[in-house]
Amino acid sequence: MPEKKPKSHGRLSISASLQPRDLMEERPRIKGAWTAKIVTLFPQAFPGVLGQSLTGRALDQGLWALETIDLRPFGKGKHKNVDDTPAGGGAGMVLRADVVHDALRQAAFGTPPSRKDWPVVYLSPRGKPFDQAMAKRWSQAEGLTMLCGRFEGVDQRVLEYHRVEEVSLGDFVLTGGEIAAQAMIDATVRLIPGVLGNEDSTEDESHSNGLLEHPQYTRPAEWQGRPIPEVLLSGNHAKIDEWRREQAEELTKMRRPDLWEKYRSKS
Ligand code: SAH
Repeated sequence: MPEKKPKSHGRLSISASLQPRDLMEERPRIKGAWTAKIVTLFPQAFPGVLGQSLTGRALDQGLWALETIDLRPFGKGKHKNVDDTPAGGGAGMVLRADVVHDALRQAAFGTPPSRKDWPVVYLSPRGKPFDQAMAKRWSQAEGLTMLCGRFEGVDQRVLEYHRVEEVSLGDFVLTGGEIAAQAMIDATVRLIPGVLGNEDSTEDESHSNGLLEHPQYTRPAEWQGRPIPEVLLSGNHAKIDEWRREQAEELTKMRRPDLWEKYRSKS
């Protein structure tokens, strides 16, 4: 007998990828904890990698919460169709406005109306490129709703109606929004106080202060004939800071002239 997979039940985020422990115990939910609501045809893809390591521990502790909204039950007819052929012809299928609307309405339940307090975004290669500043902004909101597209995307009208902001993971095309959603949630959640355990580490890392990070080293002190730069073993913290800053500047100049220009014009 093939093992019976648990079915997805609308708003609940019970999924086949969870450990048995998680199926039995409700995660603690700190009141007002930052919450990501994900509208997706594949709720079982969550929490995915977000269930691991620091983000996973923080999720277990209730420092943030995840709610998936399965698009399928909102589908039309016996087969719960969520998509149809593009108006005007062409390849592929488009997610229907009415179906996505019902799911977004369900997601909006209990969320503040201001898009500043609760961004509503559609993962899309046409969107504004996601960056650290956006992650920071989102981490300071109460939560956000993410719509994961599939196929050729989503009917334009529903995006306009719900004032949905399009956000891109980068200049490439994925088959669906789920991986992009997880990447963006990861970047956002690690900025929530308490998630990393070491708040300092988000302050001078790449993309926070406008520079790429300096190179990092650890033991052994010499490896394959390569020593760790001497200054790092000197114990002189002013010198170390200076070296790191120089390295960060050099690296940024060389690899990302665009970031370097921005950095120079600001400082
Ligand atoms: N036909 C669309 C691409 C659809 S790809 C176009 O040319 O613009 C299918 C789905 O994958 C999209 O609806 C979107 O949700 C997701 N997706 C693809 N690339 C993405 C990217 N770079 N960033 C975020 N989401 C993306």
